[in-house]
Amino acid sequence: MAPATQSTVILGLLQELHDRLSQCQEGAVADYIPELAKAVPRDFGIVVAMADGRIYAVGETEKPFTIQSISKPFAYGLALQQLSVEHMQRKVGVEPSGEAFNAISLDPETGRPRNPMINAGAIATSAQLQQLAGAGAEALLLHFFSQLAGRELSIDLEVYASERDTGHRNRAISHLLRNVSVIEGDVEPGLDLYFRQCAISVTCRDLGVMAATLACQGRNPLTGERPLDAPTTVQMLSLMGTCGMYDAAGQWLHDVGMPAKSGVAGGVLAVVPGQFGIAVYSPPLDSYGNSVRGVAACKELSERLSLHLYDQNPLGRSAIRRSYTGNHIQSRRWRTNTELVHLRDQGQSLRILHAQGVLDFYGTEQLLANLEGMARSARVIVLDMHHVQELLPNSLEMLIQTLGELDRQGIRVVISRAQGLIESPRWADLLAQTGIERVDELDIALELGEKLLLQAREARPDRPSPERPSLLLQLDPPQRQELESLLVPRTVKTGERVIRRGDDGDSLFLIVAGHFTTGVHVQFGSGDSRHSRLATFTSGMCFGEISFLSGKPRSADVVADEPGDLLVLSRDDFERLRLRSPETAIQLLLALSAELGGRLGRTSYQLSVMDHL
Ligand code: GLN
Repeated sequence: MAPATQSTVILGLLQELHDRLSQCQEGAVADYIPELAKAVPRDFGIVVAMADGRIYAVGETEKPFTIQSISKPFAYGLALQQLSVEHMQRKVGVEPSGEAFNAISLDPETGRPRNPMINAGAIATSAQLQQLAGAGAEALLLHFFSQLAGRELSIDLEVYASERDTGHRNRAISHLLRNVSVIEGDVEPGLDLYFRQCAISVTCRDLGVMAATLACQGRNPLTGERPLDAPTTVQMLSLMGTCGMYDAAGQWLHDVGMPAKSGVAGGVLAVVPGQFGIAVYSPPLDSYGNSVRGVAACKELSERLSLHLYDQNPLGRSAIRRSYTGNHIQSRRWRTNTELVHLRDQGQSLRILHAQGVLDFYGTEQLLANLEGMARSARVIVLDMHHVQELLPNSLEMLIQTLGELDRQGIRVVISRAQGLIESPRWADLLAQTGIERVDELDIALELGEKLLLQAREARPDRPSPERPSLLLQLDPPQRQELESLLVPRTVKTGERVIRRGDDGDSLFLIVAGHFTTGVHVQFGSGDSRHSRLATFTSGMCFGEISFLSGKPRSADVVADEPGDLLVLSRDDFERLRLRSPETAIQLLLALSAELGGRLGRTSYQLSVMDHL
């Protein structure tokens, strides 16, 4: 569920619109259904319901009224899902009629109603649902509408009875449909369901949530339920776009440019697909049977907020969050000098690309073009997917093809942090059939990228050759000898924990051979934590110096990644050295500060580079 916090500026904008349009006195409340004539003309509410669940409501948004024709696209959606598209197409067309809602508009050749948004098509649709579910039809319908609104809805029996008793025109339409066999058998049960469906009692807020559900491809953003599937939602919105506002549909699409649906009780529901839903309640209607304030509010919102479907801004959307080379950022594995030289030379051929957002066709095209552009000069590409929210099915297919092609060209690809995005069997095939690697941490992906680059160099030694710890090299020969006499050699096995978090820092370790990794659990505000590597140290470096110098307990574990050789200086020996040969102790401390300073300098540099990538 989305946080309740709203933007006060947006609420203010809606309030101002509401106050201004409240002055409008045009239109008349529908009275052809006697109960509807009781509506209060000044009632006026506006709701904007966002796809992530925030709801803006101003004015009369909690008062119940009947849904009327706004039920039509939803009942049609339900019928599509229950009975199939083919079945429904045989019964009802999808062409705009350009006629009034209650027009007796049937295709002269087939006898089918033109579309499900006019009464003829809606009655035919309800008749299909009635035939399908029999006595359970009302319950089916109410359950479905309740899921759309996110709360239990009921039928206003007074309005239902009022329309049932006076709905002669709709009854006549039913008989015409019976005549051309769109309705088979008795017309009354289907007609009765239609009257009940129109009399479902909703508030403006309910309609807002229903609109938002359509904006979310059929998923209710408040409850997370999915009463509609995405393809059905697209069909419903298309019909709302061409037929939703009856004979004013063309003008509406021209001026407002949103799929919408109105009802004679004064509701208007409009959708900005993928973004939010709008609902307006105001009973006075224009000559087309659409709410006057409802039309005005949608029109003004569309103009002021640039919501028109065909008014799409091509700028400012990028699927590429960041893109840089191995010269800009290194993994947290410290490298020997030989490796560093090679990585510096070859850093350009390691490319790191962070993709982001929803990879629809537009985003995917950017991503694929970038990958292919890189492939001209790169040997290794790290593709980080951490900020990709969704990979649409077609995009996935095109990305798989592109990555497969890069692999054939001999480019090594590492996919990083794609958890949840690449679980399909197609990915499994790609990973099995190519050299493409997949890792779940960016730092590890960078390290792997560097490794692949290093592997490409000729005559690569399998393990870095043992190195003289650089710390020792900084001491003058007599002092170096004295210190060396205090160092105790230690051999470690893979996985051996050399330092344990919380222990006393009573030794300093110099690496002769091997790799040693230290990591922490990073704590997030949400309460969960993730393991993250701080660094991997390599031959020639030292570790454990921080607690050794500060006297504070160890802050993180250090584990051997492979068999290794260490030289260990104990605190006791160091203390004795301090008393016996202060000059040697000073030289050691100077060398340690130089080493730490060098590392800090590099780390700070990396952090500031991040700002510019
Ligand atoms: N129940 C109403 C009717 O059939 C629905 C019409 C509407 O909302 N436009 O007359």
